[in-house]
Amino acid sequence: LIELDRAHLVHPVASYRGHEKQGVRVLASASGATVTDASGKQLVDGFAGLWCVNAGYGHESIVEAATRQLRELPYATAYFGLGSEPAIRLAAELAERAPGDLNHVYFTLGGSDAVDSTIRFVRYYWIARGQPQRDQFISIEQGYHGSSTVGAGLTALPAFHAGFGVPFDWQHKIPSHYAYRNPVGEDPQAIIAASVAALRAKVEALGPDRVAAFYAEPIQGSGGVLVPPKGWMKAMREVCRELDILFIADEVITGFGRTGPLFACTEDEIVPDFMTTAKGLTSGYVPMGAVFMSDRVYDVIADAAGASAVGHGYTYSAHPVSAAVGLEVLRLYENGLLENGVKAGARLMAGLEALRDHPLVGDVRGRGMLAAVELVVDKQKKTPLPAAAEPARRIFDRAWDNGLVIRAFANGILGYAPPLCCTDADIDAIIERTRRTLDQTLE
Ligand code: PMP
Repeated sequence: LIELDRAHLVHPVASYRGHEKQGVRVLASASGATVTDASGKQLVDGFAGLWCVNAGYGHESIVEAATRQLRELPYATAYFGLGSEPAIRLAAELAERAPGDLNHVYFTLGGSDAVDSTIRFVRYYWIARGQPQRDQFISIEQGYHGSSTVGAGLTALPAFHAGFGVPFDWQHKIPSHYAYRNPVGEDPQAIIAASVAALRAKVEALGPDRVAAFYAEPIQGSGGVLVPPKGWMKAMREVCRELDILFIADEVITGFGRTGPLFACTEDEIVPDFMTTAKGLTSGYVPMGAVFMSDRVYDVIADAAGASAVGHGYTYSAHPVSAAVGLEVLRLYENGLLENGVKAGARLMAGLEALRDHPLVGDVRGRGMLAAVELVVDKQKKTPLPAAAEPARRIFDRAWDNGLVIRAFANGILGYAPPLCCTDADIDAIIERTRRTLDQTLE
């Protein structure tokens, strides 16, 4: 398998030639929060795949829901007015649970095309409102909003954003709220004030009637699990309302119990104009994403389009099998999974907090089952772990050898997003194996 992978399977993010030494790690099976590799080695999956297997692996009821739907009706297009029962029911169930008036759901295949779709819907909205000149988009440094060709422009991680020659001069960034390394210091009110001022200044510089939308993750995930101070989302939402800019909350990671409730926006006490989700929606069992639209936005687009269709759609949008899985996963969340996630999340955060005494640990942050540990070589100076001497891949490999899957980011940040079904023993194993990995890194 390793030979075949090397010859034929492209892994751009792991680098084209990156598997040369180690070869790919092949997973063979999984159950609960435990994954088993092709050699039979068992590991606790501290990252739920790619922040997505929120329900954990091996849920027979999810398999049954998918199988039933595959037998009954494996496909129905949502393209020209056809539909399927699970997709319609899932849209209705989601709308009922979404914050405020986010009552309209557009299904995609994942998070990137969910974000990409919002760019298009935002443009339709402003054209319908007679302001086509609003074509500038603002997002945040360290943000990640997917890897589609256009949407990647909102992503502020250079590896995803730059290097392939697509002009992104209509997409702009403001500095992150990154508390641990913020030029304004760690005071929450100062951080909020700085972000608000930065957004205002950016809008002013671009022209008050030129900005179409602002994108924010309730917690910046791929940028290193950067948790904004309480009140930050609310303050940014208010500025957008005041300046008449659409506010898009990208909940692709934070949605579906990752931080506690079904949606992080609920905890942040905001209702965005759009909310993008994916990952936990189907818990990674099958691909699906969902864009939520408010009544206010949807009505403008729908009224302007009138009897004519808005030209946007994917072959696999509202896929009945994905929707059937989504419905069952939603049932699981509400039958104990969310609750267990809150309990396990508290144990995870307490365990990681206790690692602060380790010489390499500079910062510990997170909310619910989404957390990070930032490694430094000098706690006082917050000197980052030198990437050349201690590449992320080596920390990842060491954790793997210790029976733990975590995300090791390039800048010495370890990411945690375990399945919400974790038992106390799973969480304790994550903490204990992290400590062992850090001790070995110190050596
Ligand atoms: N937005 C955010 C906030 C994400 O974290 C991700 C994926 N990590 C995406 C969008 C893109 O989602 P996908 O990988 O499903 O295309």
